[in-house]
Amino acid sequence: MAWFPGARKLEVQPESDTQSVIRPTQLILHSLAAPWNVDQTYNYWKNSTNLESHFAVAYDGDLGQFIGTQTRADANYQANLRPDGTGAVSCESEANVHNTDPWTQAQMNSLIRLGVWLHKEHDIPLRVCRSWTDPGYGYHRMFPQWALGGSTFCPGDARAAQFHNIVFPGIVSAANGDPLPQHRGEHNATNVAMKSGTWKTLEFESKAIATGAGIYDVMVNLTLEGLAPGATVQGRFYHLNGKDRTYGPIIERFASDGQTFADFNKCGQMGSGDTLHFQLAAWNKDGAPFTVAYRVVEGLGWAL
Ligand SMILES: [Zn+2]
Repeated sequence: MAWFPGARKLEVQPESDTQSVIRPTQLILHSLAAPWNVDQTYNYWKNSTNLESHFAVAYDGDLGQFIGTQTRADANYQANLRPDGTGAVSCESEANVHNTDPWTQAQMNSLIRLGVWLHKEHDIPLRVCRSWTDPGYGYHRMFPQWALGGSTFCPGDARAAQFHNIVFPGIVSAANGDPLPQHRGEHNATNVAMKSGTWKTLEFESKAIATGAGIYDVMVNLTLEGLAPGATVQGRFYHLNGKDRTYGPIIERFASDGQTFADFNKCGQMGSGDTLHFQLAAWNKDGAPFTVAYRVVEGLGWAL
């Protein structure tokens, strides 16, 4: 019996002691069609049904394990235990009642950690299952043999797409030792009064866009009001270290009729004492003041 050290152990009995031994060769992902955390899911498996999955992950990333991974669980129909002794490890996930919402970032992070552990612990190969018996990673509706009655919507369209675009590639890159980027988005809807022709550093929710040694790829999007059509808008990122500033290139945009929507992008690398900032200037007709009405920064960072 194998228990993932990264999950909370909530053993479901008597199933955990009485069900057959399997040799785990697959991970199959599910959605629960219920907004249940790990403890609620455990209570349901324990008290209300003799079905169960090996794992469940809540919206906040909390991961629970109910059955050892070398014991059969019941979520995958014919893949629970095949005649050759192999079987699938199953993971349920908190969802809305229609199984239409995407996994949260915290859920995907936990699914990736689970996928990496299964690769290391049980040698599950780093590929998407090519048939219902093929060792690898998949989700419930991929093969009719995995679902009672031959078909299911589980885990939903949004999560099936996330499996292919984020979760499975994340398992592969993490298992190979590549660092995963962290995503961050910050916005600020408080108006900032701007003087024409004067650079001003914009804060978002935090004082700095990023802090410390790492690689970043960020985009700032601004909504500007009060600029005459054709006015020049400039933005630049800079690294701050003590009092030293290292400026990136100036990026130039032009104001349009009504609100102006301007975007500024930069990739770069920072050292341990650096913070990343963005500043803006615009040259308005007759030197009139203008307003930053909305600002958002979004990006990926790899800590070094
Ligand atoms: Zn399912």
